[in-house]
Amino acid sequence: MDPEHGCIDLGGAYVGQKQKRVLKLVKEFGLELYNINEKEKTVLNFRNSWSKFSGVIPPFWNPIKLLDLNHVLRTIDNMAKEIPADAPWKAPKAEEWDAMTMKEFINKICWTSTTKELLRIMIEAVFTVEPWEVSLLYVLWSIGSGGGVEQVVSVEGGAQEMKIIGGTQQLSVKLAEKLGNAVKLSTPVVCIEQTDDNVIVTDLHGNKYKGRFVISAVPQTLLSRITFRPELPPLRQQLIQRIPMGSIIKTNMFYSTAFWREEDMCGTALSDSGPVAACIDDTKPDGSHPSIMGFILADRAREMVSMTAEERKQALCEHYAKAFRSKKFLYPIGYRENNWMAEEYSGGCYTIYTPPGVLTKYGRYLFQPVGKIFFAGTETSTVWSGYIEGAIQAGERAASEVLYEMNLIKKEEVWQEESSFDITSSEPWTIESILPSVTNIFHFVGCIGLSYILYKFYPILLNAIQNWSI
Ligand SMILES: Cc1cc2nc3c(=O)[nH]c(=O)nc-3n(C[C@H](O)[C@H](O)[C@H](O)COP(=O)(O)OP(=O)(O)OC[C@H]3O[C@@H](n4cnc5c(N)ncnc54)[C@H](O)[C@@H]3O)c2cc1C
Repeated sequence: MDPEHGCIDLGGAYVGQKQKRVLKLVKEFGLELYNINEKEKTVLNFRNSWSKFSGVIPPFWNPIKLLDLNHVLRTIDNMAKEIPADAPWKAPKAEEWDAMTMKEFINKICWTSTTKELLRIMIEAVFTVEPWEVSLLYVLWSIGSGGGVEQVVSVEGGAQEMKIIGGTQQLSVKLAEKLGNAVKLSTPVVCIEQTDDNVIVTDLHGNKYKGRFVISAVPQTLLSRITFRPELPPLRQQLIQRIPMGSIIKTNMFYSTAFWREEDMCGTALSDSGPVAACIDDTKPDGSHPSIMGFILADRAREMVSMTAEERKQALCEHYAKAFRSKKFLYPIGYRENNWMAEEYSGGCYTIYTPPGVLTKYGRYLFQPVGKIFFAGTETSTVWSGYIEGAIQAGERAASEVLYEMNLIKKEEVWQEESSFDITSSEPWTIESILPSVTNIFHFVGCIGLSYILYKFYPILLNAIQNWSI
């Protein structure tokens, strides 16, 4: 809660209709959700052109661009369907897809530079990395775990549809209330020691806690800072050296009114240049604290990390003024930001990602218990991995594994995950599903051209072949 600007979600915030575990918690705690404003139009500030549009797909006049974008998004969904949610390394083409960066895939499949740029923005916004950093297999697995591209990128009907009135942190606070004194804040774990019967956890202040089992929900890349006795198995140690966190600074710019709405703009702008690739209206549902939330992502976050907060604020205002074509954005009444790269006990966000080769060679160790230590955390989830929903699912799974070890539940009661992804955006017989790709069009045009040449020059060609064979 900010005294001037009310509640600000500096971390995870958005909730989608398909995230049933978060929705259940919201209901259980008597919290309320509100819809993100998307009544007016989205702005596309792209390749020196500017337009406003409604819906998810930008309005390109050039049909080649539209077909190209449609084809790549549908291809990603179809490839994601081939990946087992609980074992992505078992996908039929796992090795091939994990050997490729997302950038290589984009360059291979996209025809137009516009589609390539839009895909770059999508990868930055969803994974907080550049396409050259991340494995294709990881992107497909993660997008599949969220139900497909449309689910993951959309506001209406997608992962960004709603927020919790009063802030997402209420979920943690209310869960902590239920646990009472068991929750210790500002108490980082520094050592986990397994004995024959117990596990002893030591915190930074030297306090020791004894239990029969431990569930670690620490982002796994940060496990390298905890001493394990006995030490972690070799491939687990290698895994945690190879799963970095994404790079992001989350920002909120406050204005005296939500003036953009009066100019038929909902506050969402997609930009291929400037510090913020994607921003969203963050005004409260009662109209108070008009604000634009902007993510500074990946390369932009790394470039701007050495600036002062005031310099970033200035750069963002100038960016919004250009992106929305309105000088009013130059006059904010407040600014808040959180640099997640500077958070010692996160090291970045939204979650880990895997560079090429890591998921196939080490991915299975993300989920595997080590003796009496079990692992939760959103990166171990098989639905909405990287999201709050995924963190809850992973916690439920780890808890059921421990209950089974304690003989409190039967084997068949141990948490089972849904076996397949629910990629709704690729249901058959939508218009998008029958549109051809640019490659198919070129093949078709090529075949027509070849047929015409054969028809037109058939006698000459026949003559030439006969002469040659004699
Ligand atoms: C800027 C930002 C925006 C996001 N937006 C969304 C969104 O809109 N919707 C969504 O669903 N998700 C979003 N996410 C992702 C979401 O917040 C995460 O998926 C979720 O918080 C993961 O939960 P977790 O419990 O796995 O890990 P975390 O929430 O990271 O919790 C891990 C905890 O472990 C603690 N810890 C670390 N080291 C130690 C140690 N040695 N000892 C003890 N404790 C330790 C950390 O302090 C932290 O409290 C966003 C994340 C960020 C950063």
